[in-house]
Amino acid sequence: ATPLAILVGTGRGAQLGVLVRGAPALEDARAVQTVVLDKTGTVTEGRMSVTATHAPGLSAEAADALLDAAASVEDRSEHPIARAIAESRLTRVPLKGFRSTPGRGVTATVRGAGVDGANADLTVGARGLFDRVDDALEAWAAGREEAGETVVFAGRSRPLGGGLLGAAAPAVREPLAAEVAIAVRDRVKDSTPEALAAFRNLGLDVVLLTGDARRVAEAVGRELGIDRVIAEVLPQDKAAVVASLQEGGRRVAMVGDGVNDAPALAQADLGIAIGTGADVAREASDLTVVSGDPRAAADAIALSRRTYATIR
Ligand code: ADP
Ligand code: MG
Repeated sequence: ATPLAILVGTGRGAQLGVLVRGAPALEDARAVQTVVLDKTGTVTEGRMSVTATHAPGLSAEAADALLDAAASVEDRSEHPIARAIAESRLTRVPLKGFRSTPGRGVTATVRGAGVDGANADLTVGARGLFDRVDDALEAWAAGREEAGETVVFAGRSRPLGGGLLGAAAPAVREPLAAEVAIAVRDRVKDSTPEALAAFRNLGLDVVLLTGDARRVAEAVGRELGIDRVIAEVLPQDKAAVVASLQEGGRRVAMVGDGVNDAPALAQADLGIAIGTGADVAREASDLTVVSGDPRAAADAIALSRRTYATIR
């Protein structure tokens, strides 16, 4: 266990509480050339809320029942999108066999949710989980995404074996069609524009990295003037993205908050965990910005440059 010290210095780095894992971490910070920012929870608050839903093929009652079921499934997930969907509905339905695919979505078997009251598997998540998203849903989703909102879909399929009645698994799963689209909105942190200005003043290249859809990531990038956007990256692939940015010996800092970010934080030359989020993210990092204010990450790099420029 290397010592964690509170960054001693002037300015926001000290005020906002930057924990440093040993002096070498702070010394390394001065050499950083590229800063990779995770989108959700780093650039944005990471607290989402549902803004709209769209189910053109369903009656109002059927859409409500599907959304209640989706909220019940998302109740089991810790993801910010899941929390938003769970909070958007009051009614819960019984389910079993919950499973989640990191970076994609969640599925559970819901009693009586299928055709004629049969049990159904309900999937909630990214477009890529669905075999079919019809044009009406697709067009609606595109509009919300252009405005920077994240859209997930929900749809039912016949249970893939097990179910509530223990039916034998069919050899091939029936195609999964999206039936309702759910838009959620996150807010860019008030401190983000200033943090970006500070990174640019230090001459750093800024890259936005996310598992979210390309259209959403690009909308957020446009709003913030970040033109290098790497989207639709699965959690297990984030570290490889950092490694590719390190090619040619470039020194890369990664700023992230989530469990999913830990391997990328460890891969980076300088890992900066932000916020009070996941323990594993902090453990994988060289610096921790306790407050979650991304300006403190820029301050730490600036302080490192000042400190090690004078004493060498
Ligand atoms: P980020 O890089 O923004 O932290 P994640 O890798 O956690 O994103 O998730 C990527 C995408 O996977 C989300 O934008 C969403 O489409 C989908 N997803 C992940 N978990 C869930 C969930 N519990 N419910 C719905 N969608 C999910
Ligand atoms: Mg995240």
